[in-house]
Amino acid sequence: MTLLAFNTPISGMPGMSWPAMPSMEASTLLSVLYQLQQTDRLDPAQLESLQMQQLHGLFSHLFQHEPVYHARLTEVGFSPTKTLTPELFRSLPILSRAELQDMGEKAFCVNIPPEHGHVRKGMTSGSTGRALTYAKTGLADFLWNVITLREALLADWNFRGKLAVCRAGSKDGEHSSWGRPENIIFETGKASIRNIRTDLKDQARWLSAFGPDYLITNPTNLKALCEWYSTHGGWESQLKGIRTLGEVVSPELREMCQTVFNADLRDMYSAAEIGYIALQCPEHLHYHIMSEFVLVEVLDEDGMACNPGEIGKVVITSLHNFAMPLIRYSIGDYAEVGEPCPCGRGLPVLKKIMGRSRNLLTFPDGKKWWPTLPPKKYLHIAPIRQMQLVQKSLETIEVRLAVDAPLKSDQEEALTEALRNMLKYPFNLLFTYYPELEYGPNHKFDDFISEI
Ligand SMILES: [Zn+2]
Repeated sequence: MTLLAFNTPISGMPGMSWPAMPSMEASTLLSVLYQLQQTDRLDPAQLESLQMQQLHGLFSHLFQHEPVYHARLTEVGFSPTKTLTPELFRSLPILSRAELQDMGEKAFCVNIPPEHGHVRKGMTSGSTGRALTYAKTGLADFLWNVITLREALLADWNFRGKLAVCRAGSKDGEHSSWGRPENIIFETGKASIRNIRTDLKDQARWLSAFGPDYLITNPTNLKALCEWYSTHGGWESQLKGIRTLGEVVSPELREMCQTVFNADLRDMYSAAEIGYIALQCPEHLHYHIMSEFVLVEVLDEDGMACNPGEIGKVVITSLHNFAMPLIRYSIGDYAEVGEPCPCGRGLPVLKKIMGRSRNLLTFPDGKKWWPTLPPKKYLHIAPIRQMQLVQKSLETIEVRLAVDAPLKSDQEEALTEALRNMLKYPFNLLFTYYPELEYGPNHKFDDFISEI
């Protein structure tokens, strides 16, 4: 992280521009960022020891003030007077997303240290059909800001550049700065924001006119933009960096960004109820877990920790949010554990984020896998605008296509063969035709959904 390579902090004192004397808020952010520059080099055992120390503080508070958590902690033998060991921590039960949803407001704490700031409530997008209400302290939001800065600095973003953001829940607007948290510390360039529901043609017109240096959006939208520009042209992109969030990124999308925008895509893994979970390594395609803020376990079906190369359920413990403690929370995602990173950072590695269980293909013999459906393997067959596969039974998959006209029989045959090759099994394929396929909440789009 080259903190000051492009970006000089704003000085808050008259007559003192260099070195800067940042404001109190900026100084606090910078002091945590400074610590992160040291902690990302710690080895996993040192990180775990610091996590246990922090969790001991959280658990002791809950033990004393929150009856629901007191009972849970007592059951496993936790005591504020005893050291919290990793073994005792791992004996705590896993909390599923459904259980958390059932808890409702019981998951919220009443007694929160006032220094942790104002508590706000929010709601997740509910892509599984059931939304989740969460509560976060001002401290948790402050730490979100810290990691936002960490991410931009890891990617060597120059905050004086122009930033375009196209996201769910955002209001359209033109801004003279990037806003918080970047402008608390640094001079920034202009920002332009569009809601992700903006028509694609209008988005393309907006980007061409604004000419951003950096773009933040979700993978589905980015893919649609890549396809738009590769078909229509019309923009000599000067993009220096692209950040994505909210969905799984395919290798094909990374390639498309290079071809269409000549820019690197950097992805991050986050969830509204947790915050940041992992950021892409600045030197590799895999992800580093944000161990200073979350304890992430990847567990197999027996609840044992997966080894590098193995895929398991992602179970997360949030270290600092006293408003709604998430302890061994099974978020519903699967990930592959990676080997330690050669970049020198000790932050543990997730090689791939696989997606959710509803995106898992089940083979007739019971094996499961996340299918990949690269457009280059089928787009030569017919001009398919969108495709979504829905598994209806162990043998049958519905192939939903958004096209101008239904495929001819030879095209259906060719697509059947291509899909069977991609799926690695001769499933029965039922073609259904639509003018347009619907996006999920927050403009997310699943290529593959299992209904079994
Ligand atoms: Zn790395």
